Amino acid sequence: MVTISFLLITTLLFVLGTILGSFLSVVILRSIAGEGWVSGRSRCDSCRNTIAWYDNIPLLSFILLRGKCRHCKEPILPLHPMVEVLTGVLLVWWYWGGFIFFKLTQTPLSILQPLFWLSVGLLLIYLFIIDLNYMILPDKPVYALFGLAVLYRVALVVSGIMQMNDLYFAIIAALLSFLFFFALWFFTKGKGMGFGDVKLVVPLALLLGAQNMLVCLFLAFIIGAVVGVILISFGRGKLKTAIPFGPFLISSTVLSLLWGDTLFSWYWQLIF
Ligand SMILES: [Zn+2]
Repeated sequence: MVTISFLLITTLLFVLGTILGSFLSVVILRSIAGEGWVSGRSRCDSCRNTIAWYDNIPLLSFILLRGKCRHCKEPILPLHPMVEVLTGVLLVWWYWGGFIFFKLTQTPLSILQPLFWLSVGLLLIYLFIIDLNYMILPDKPVYALFGLAVLYRVALVVSGIMQMNDLYFAIIAALLSFLFFFALWFFTKGKGMGFGDVKLVVPLALLLGAQNMLVCLFLAFIIGAVVGVILISFGRGKLKTAIPFGPFLISSTVLSLLWGDTLFSWYWQLIF
Protein backbone atom coordinates (compact mmCIF):
# COMPACT_ATOMS: atom_id res chain seq x y z
CA MET A 1 0.00 0.00 0.00
CA VAL A 2 1.28 3.43 -0.89
CA THR A 3 1.39 5.58 2.20
CA ILE A 4 2.34 9.21 2.74
CA SER A 5 5.55 8.20 4.53
CA PHE A 6 6.52 5.91 1.65
CA LEU A 7 6.12 8.78 -0.84
CA LEU A 8 7.94 11.21 1.44
CA ILE A 9 10.92 8.91 2.01
CA THR A 10 11.08 8.03 -1.70
CA THR A 11 11.04 11.72 -2.73
CA LEU A 12 13.63 12.61 -0.12
CA LEU A 13 15.92 9.76 -1.22
CA PHE A 14 15.55 10.69 -4.87
CA VAL A 15 16.38 14.35 -4.16
CA LEU A 16 19.38 13.31 -2.04
CA GLY A 17 20.46 11.04 -4.88
CA THR A 18 20.29 13.86 -7.45
CA ILE A 19 22.45 16.05 -5.15
CA LEU A 20 24.96 13.20 -4.80
CA GLY A 21 24.74 12.71 -8.59
CA SER A 22 25.45 16.36 -9.25
CA PHE A 23 28.71 16.02 -7.27
CA LEU A 24 29.47 12.80 -9.14
CA SER A 25 29.03 14.49 -12.53
CA VAL A 26 31.49 17.20 -11.47
CA VAL A 27 33.95 14.50 -10.36
CA ILE A 28 33.54 12.77 -13.75
CA LEU A 29 34.16 15.96 -15.76
CA ARG A 30 37.08 17.09 -13.60
CA SER A 31 38.78 13.70 -13.74
CA ILE A 32 38.41 13.73 -17.55
CA ALA A 33 39.96 17.20 -17.64
CA GLY A 34 42.69 16.06 -15.25
CA GLU A 35 41.69 18.61 -12.60
CA GLY A 36 41.41 18.12 -8.86
CA TRP A 37 38.08 16.83 -7.58
CA VAL A 38 37.29 19.68 -5.24
CA SER A 39 38.42 22.99 -6.64
CA GLY A 40 36.28 26.11 -6.79
CA ARG A 41 32.63 26.68 -7.64
CA SER A 42 30.66 25.04 -10.41
CA ARG A 43 31.23 26.58 -13.82
CA CYS A 44 29.49 26.26 -17.17
CA ASP A 45 31.25 23.61 -19.27
CA SER A 46 31.16 25.94 -22.30
CA CYS A 47 31.66 29.58 -21.21
CA ARG A 48 33.27 28.88 -17.79
CA ASN A 49 30.94 31.40 -16.10
CA THR A 50 30.28 30.62 -12.44
CA ILE A 51 26.85 29.03 -12.03
CA ALA A 52 24.55 30.76 -9.52
CA TRP A 53 23.08 28.53 -6.81
CA TYR A 54 19.56 28.86 -8.28
CA ASP A 55 20.87 27.57 -11.62
CA ASN A 56 22.68 24.71 -9.93
CA ILE A 57 19.76 22.82 -8.38
CA PRO A 58 20.11 19.21 -9.53
CA LEU A 59 17.70 18.22 -12.31
CA LEU A 60 15.28 21.11 -11.58
CA SER A 61 17.61 23.81 -12.97
CA PHE A 62 18.22 21.71 -16.09
CA ILE A 63 14.45 21.56 -16.68
CA LEU A 64 13.84 25.27 -15.87
CA LEU A 65 16.73 26.40 -18.08
CA ARG A 66 15.52 23.98 -20.80
CA GLY A 67 18.95 22.40 -20.94
CA LYS A 68 20.79 25.63 -21.83
CA CYS A 69 23.31 27.81 -19.97
CA ARG A 70 21.81 31.13 -18.80
CA HIS A 71 24.85 33.07 -20.04
CA CYS A 72 26.00 31.53 -23.30
CA LYS A 73 22.83 29.56 -24.22
CA GLU A 74 25.02 26.56 -25.09
CA PRO A 75 23.41 23.21 -24.26
CA ILE A 76 24.22 21.86 -20.79
CA LEU A 77 25.99 18.48 -21.18
CA PRO A 78 23.31 15.73 -20.99
CA LEU A 79 25.77 13.94 -18.74
CA HIS A 80 24.63 16.11 -15.80
CA PRO A 81 20.90 15.20 -15.71
CA MET A 82 21.81 11.61 -16.68
CA VAL A 83 24.06 11.10 -13.64
CA GLU A 84 21.59 12.91 -11.37
CA VAL A 85 18.64 10.70 -12.39
CA LEU A 86 20.72 7.49 -12.19
CA THR A 87 22.04 8.34 -8.72
CA GLY A 88 18.53 9.32 -7.58
CA VAL A 89 17.18 5.95 -8.77
CA LEU A 90 20.15 4.17 -7.17
CA LEU A 91 19.43 5.68 -3.78
CA VAL A 92 15.69 4.89 -3.94
CA TRP A 93 16.38 1.31 -5.01
CA TRP A 94 19.20 0.95 -2.51
CA TYR A 95 16.87 1.83 0.32
CA TRP A 96 13.65 0.06 -0.64
CA GLY A 97 15.08 -2.85 -2.63
CA GLY A 98 18.04 -3.33 -0.36
CA PHE A 99 15.99 -3.12 2.82
CA ILE A 100 14.88 -6.75 2.69
CA PHE A 101 18.10 -7.95 1.10
CA PHE A 102 20.34 -6.42 3.77
CA LYS A 103 18.26 -7.94 6.57
CA LEU A 104 19.44 -11.37 5.44
CA THR A 105 22.86 -10.71 6.96
CA GLN A 106 23.93 -10.23 10.53
CA THR A 107 26.28 -7.74 12.15
CA PRO A 108 28.82 -6.51 11.22
CA LEU A 109 27.74 -7.29 7.65
CA SER A 110 24.36 -5.62 8.20
CA ILE A 111 26.18 -2.28 8.23
CA LEU A 112 29.03 -3.09 5.85
CA GLN A 113 26.83 -4.70 3.20
CA PRO A 114 24.61 -1.61 2.53
CA LEU A 115 27.71 0.61 2.40
CA PHE A 116 29.40 -1.86 0.08
CA TRP A 117 26.53 -1.95 -2.40
CA LEU A 118 26.15 1.84 -2.36
CA SER A 119 29.85 2.22 -3.22
CA VAL A 120 29.54 -0.42 -5.95
CA GLY A 121 26.46 1.37 -7.34
CA LEU A 122 28.25 4.75 -7.46
CA LEU A 123 31.34 3.22 -9.09
CA LEU A 124 29.17 1.50 -11.71
CA ILE A 125 27.34 4.77 -12.53
CA TYR A 126 30.71 6.55 -12.77
CA LEU A 127 32.13 3.94 -15.18
CA PHE A 128 28.88 3.71 -17.19
CA ILE A 129 28.70 7.48 -17.79
CA ILE A 130 32.40 8.01 -18.47
CA ASP A 131 32.57 5.14 -21.01
CA LEU A 132 29.31 6.22 -22.67
CA ASN A 133 30.49 9.82 -23.10
CA TYR A 134 34.24 9.52 -23.52
CA MET A 135 34.80 5.86 -24.50
CA ILE A 136 37.30 5.19 -21.76
CA LEU A 137 37.21 3.06 -18.64
CA PRO A 138 39.69 4.67 -16.20
CA ASP A 139 41.86 2.26 -14.19
CA LYS A 140 41.33 3.65 -10.68
CA PRO A 141 37.56 3.00 -10.34
CA VAL A 142 38.00 -0.45 -11.97
CA TYR A 143 40.72 -1.32 -9.42
CA ALA A 144 38.54 0.05 -6.61
CA LEU A 145 35.72 -2.19 -7.82
CA PHE A 146 38.14 -5.13 -7.91
CA GLY A 147 39.29 -4.45 -4.34
CA LEU A 148 35.70 -4.21 -3.10
CA ALA A 149 34.69 -7.38 -4.95
CA VAL A 150 37.57 -9.39 -3.44
CA LEU A 151 36.76 -8.15 0.08
CA TYR A 152 33.09 -8.97 -0.48
CA ARG A 153 33.76 -12.56 -1.60
CA VAL A 154 36.20 -13.19 1.24
CA ALA A 155 33.80 -11.68 3.82
CA LEU A 156 30.96 -13.88 2.57
CA VAL A 157 33.07 -17.04 2.87
CA VAL A 158 34.57 -16.14 6.27
CA SER A 159 31.15 -15.33 7.72
CA GLY A 160 29.80 -18.64 6.41
CA ILE A 161 27.13 -17.09 4.20
CA MET A 162 28.79 -18.63 1.15
CA GLN A 163 30.80 -21.77 0.71
CA MET A 164 34.38 -22.05 -0.44
CA ASN A 165 33.15 -23.56 -3.72
CA ASP A 166 31.30 -20.33 -4.61
CA LEU A 167 34.58 -18.45 -4.21
CA TYR A 168 36.43 -20.92 -6.44
CA PHE A 169 33.72 -20.72 -9.11
CA ALA A 170 33.74 -16.91 -8.97
CA ILE A 171 37.53 -16.87 -9.45
CA ILE A 172 37.29 -19.32 -12.36
CA ALA A 173 34.51 -17.18 -13.90
CA ALA A 174 36.71 -14.08 -13.53
CA LEU A 175 39.68 -15.82 -15.17
CA LEU A 176 37.62 -17.24 -18.05
CA SER A 177 35.91 -13.87 -18.66
CA PHE A 178 39.30 -12.17 -18.66
CA LEU A 179 40.72 -14.66 -21.18
CA PHE A 180 37.62 -14.43 -23.39
CA PHE A 181 37.71 -10.63 -23.51
CA PHE A 182 41.49 -10.63 -23.89
CA ALA A 183 41.10 -12.88 -26.96
CA LEU A 184 38.38 -10.56 -28.37
CA TRP A 185 40.63 -7.55 -27.77
CA PHE A 186 43.68 -9.30 -29.22
CA PHE A 187 42.08 -10.68 -32.38
CA THR A 188 40.10 -7.52 -33.22
CA LYS A 189 43.25 -5.46 -32.52
CA GLY A 190 41.38 -3.37 -29.99
CA LYS A 191 38.65 -2.34 -32.44
CA GLY A 192 35.86 -4.56 -31.13
CA MET A 193 36.77 -4.20 -27.48
CA GLY A 194 38.93 -1.81 -25.48
CA PHE A 195 41.43 -3.11 -22.95
CA GLY A 196 39.35 -1.35 -20.28
CA ASP A 197 36.59 -3.90 -20.92
CA VAL A 198 39.12 -6.74 -20.51
CA LYS A 199 39.98 -5.45 -17.04
CA LEU A 200 36.40 -4.57 -16.06
CA VAL A 201 35.02 -8.12 -16.48
CA VAL A 202 37.25 -9.39 -13.63
CA PRO A 203 35.60 -7.42 -10.78
CA LEU A 204 32.17 -7.92 -12.40
CA ALA A 205 32.62 -11.72 -12.37
CA LEU A 206 33.75 -11.64 -8.74
CA LEU A 207 30.70 -9.57 -7.79
CA LEU A 208 28.23 -11.69 -9.72
CA GLY A 209 29.57 -15.21 -9.23
CA ALA A 210 29.86 -17.81 -11.99
CA GLN A 211 26.19 -18.34 -12.88
CA ASN A 212 25.18 -14.68 -12.95
CA MET A 213 28.33 -13.73 -14.87
CA LEU A 214 27.22 -16.12 -17.61
CA VAL A 215 23.80 -14.38 -17.68
CA CYS A 216 25.54 -10.98 -17.66
CA LEU A 217 27.81 -11.72 -20.65
CA PHE A 218 24.93 -13.23 -22.59
CA LEU A 219 22.79 -10.12 -21.93
CA ALA A 220 25.63 -7.71 -22.72
CA PHE A 221 26.14 -9.15 -26.20
CA ILE A 222 22.38 -9.29 -26.89
CA ILE A 223 21.80 -5.68 -25.72
CA GLY A 224 24.92 -4.58 -27.61
CA ALA A 225 23.70 -6.21 -30.82
CA VAL A 226 20.17 -4.77 -30.47
CA VAL A 227 21.47 -1.24 -29.77
CA GLY A 228 23.95 -1.57 -32.66
CA VAL A 229 21.19 -2.58 -35.08
CA ILE A 230 18.94 0.27 -33.86
CA LEU A 231 21.75 2.85 -34.27
CA ILE A 232 22.57 1.62 -37.78
CA SER A 233 18.94 1.49 -38.93
CA PHE A 234 18.35 5.04 -37.67
CA GLY A 235 21.41 6.20 -39.58
CA ARG A 236 23.20 7.13 -36.38
CA GLY A 237 26.05 4.73 -37.01
CA LYS A 238 27.73 2.49 -39.50
CA LEU A 239 29.07 -1.00 -39.04
CA LYS A 240 32.47 0.55 -38.34
CA THR A 241 31.20 3.08 -35.76
CA ALA A 242 32.83 2.38 -32.42
CA ILE A 243 30.33 1.87 -29.61
CA PRO A 244 31.73 1.57 -26.09
CA PHE A 245 31.02 -1.87 -24.65
CA GLY A 246 31.33 -0.90 -20.98
CA PRO A 247 27.77 0.49 -20.70
CA PHE A 248 26.37 -2.83 -21.99
CA LEU A 249 28.48 -4.79 -19.50
CA ILE A 250 27.42 -2.53 -16.64
CA SER A 251 23.69 -2.48 -17.42
CA SER A 252 23.80 -6.29 -17.82
CA THR A 253 25.55 -6.55 -14.46
CA VAL A 254 22.72 -4.61 -12.82
CA LEU A 255 20.07 -6.77 -14.56
CA SER A 256 21.91 -9.95 -13.50
CA LEU A 257 22.23 -8.76 -9.91
CA LEU A 258 18.48 -8.12 -9.80
CA TRP A 259 17.08 -10.97 -11.91
CA GLY A 260 20.04 -13.26 -12.66
CA ASP A 261 18.47 -16.38 -11.14
CA THR A 262 15.13 -15.85 -12.91
CA LEU A 263 16.82 -15.23 -16.26
CA PHE A 264 19.08 -18.25 -15.82
CA SER A 265 16.23 -20.69 -15.08
CA TRP A 266 14.12 -19.14 -17.83
CA TYR A 267 16.93 -19.66 -20.33
CA TRP A 268 17.52 -23.20 -19.03
CA GLN A 269 13.86 -24.08 -19.63
CA LEU A 270 14.12 -22.65 -23.13
CA ILE A 271 16.88 -25.10 -24.08
CA PHE A 272 15.45 -28.24 -22.47
ZN1 LIG B 1 27.69 28.95 -20.46
